[in-house]
Amino acid sequence: MPLIDDAISLPKDQIPRQWLNVLPHLPVPLGPYKAPDGSDLPPAALEAIFPPNLVDQEFSDQPIIAIPEPILEAYAMWRPTPLVRARRLEKALGVKSRVYYKNESLSPSGSHKSNTALAQAYYNKVAGVSRLATETGAGQWGTALAIAARWFDLGIRVYMVKVSLDQKPYRRTIMNLMEAEVLASPSQMTNAGRAALAKDPNSPGSLGLAISEAVEEAASRSDTNYALGSVLNHVLLHQTIIGQEVKLQLALANETPDCLVACHGGGSNFGGLAVPFVLDVLKGQKTEILAAEPTACPTLTKGAYGYDYGDTARLTPLMPMYSLGPDFVPPSIHAGGLRYHGASPIVSSLIKSKIASPVAVSADEAYRYTRLFAQSEYIVPAPESSHALAIACQKALAWEKEGRVGVVVFVLSGHGLLDLSAYESPLP
Ligand SMILES: *Cc1c(COP(=O)(O)O)cnc(C)c1O
Repeated sequence: MPLIDDAISLPKDQIPRQWLNVLPHLPVPLGPYKAPDGSDLPPAALEAIFPPNLVDQEFSDQPIIAIPEPILEAYAMWRPTPLVRARRLEKALGVKSRVYYKNESLSPSGSHKSNTALAQAYYNKVAGVSRLATETGAGQWGTALAIAARWFDLGIRVYMVKVSLDQKPYRRTIMNLMEAEVLASPSQMTNAGRAALAKDPNSPGSLGLAISEAVEEAASRSDTNYALGSVLNHVLLHQTIIGQEVKLQLALANETPDCLVACHGGGSNFGGLAVPFVLDVLKGQKTEILAAEPTACPTLTKGAYGYDYGDTARLTPLMPMYSLGPDFVPPSIHAGGLRYHGASPIVSSLIKSKIASPVAVSADEAYRYTRLFAQSEYIVPAPESSHALAIACQKALAWEKEGRVGVVVFVLSGHGLLDLSAYESPLP
């Protein structure tokens, strides 16, 4: 009996050797970043905390940017990742449509964040920086950057939101194995942290505060830069490796996608999937591109488009994006990576010009499809990824009702093996 391989694997030597920059193609060009007084911020201002090569990428007008060899070598640890036909999930749903998932959970950190972490560590290394400072919420980004810092021999300090550190200590274990220094935020290390502790010695911390601590450290030390895991243009650029591989793999399977889905926190895995298909859509290809966000943090479906700060402390520049406002505190949900008040300016522009559309999904609904996926494909998805999974399943079910057969692809942005508490204890 012939055995069916549901994974469409690309050979190692077919890892895409470039990233795709969507900036020159956006129908509505992005406005400049702005200072708090409303004046345009010169790109060089970002060099206080980022290396010049990443600042160049942030505002680049080059449609294609070559991936340097040392980053390709690092990517080759786990890339190309398989695109898998979820045949048993289709059967469990009772649909004739074809459902595929791009498995980004196979990276060393267990999520797509390694794609940009390795690139950012490399560009800091070649710029002569010796240390990185960053923040992390649930720990996915901190883990990815700790591994990347180890690979490129950089020191790293991670400010981890205190309440998350207490609830999810295992990612700290991995970061410590990589010799990263992990501090509970608020910490005694920075003015922002000391001020927060003076106000409330038992402060649980927040992502906004942890960002403030990491940025303060990077701005005050010449040997140290800051790194961000989502939202910014250069982060989305690095993630376009995902969509490029998907495109090659769909071509191998003779498929044209009717619908592409990724979950949306700050926009990086969504942008990474979408960008390589945006040019096709602009040329008239009928592919629906959906960003799945939680109903508890409805940035794209309910937020306003305009200039806003990226963090609670208002330390970042003002960026043009969909936002619920920097003071919006999303309710506690298990998908910690989707609890962000803003959105990437690139994704915001794609939504604004209707190239892509947002959809909100409730935690209950996401959990329902998590169980179905786990019981049919035998993988525990990250709580974030389950939002994309749910929308993809609902799409296939809707097609079935219409008597239509389609092709839907979603990104499994990470596995949930370090988020098992999320699947044990329902939130209030
Ligand atoms: C961080 C994270 C997300 C959300 O971030 P984006 O920038 O929106 O992609 C989604 N899934 C996983 C597994 C994550 O770690």
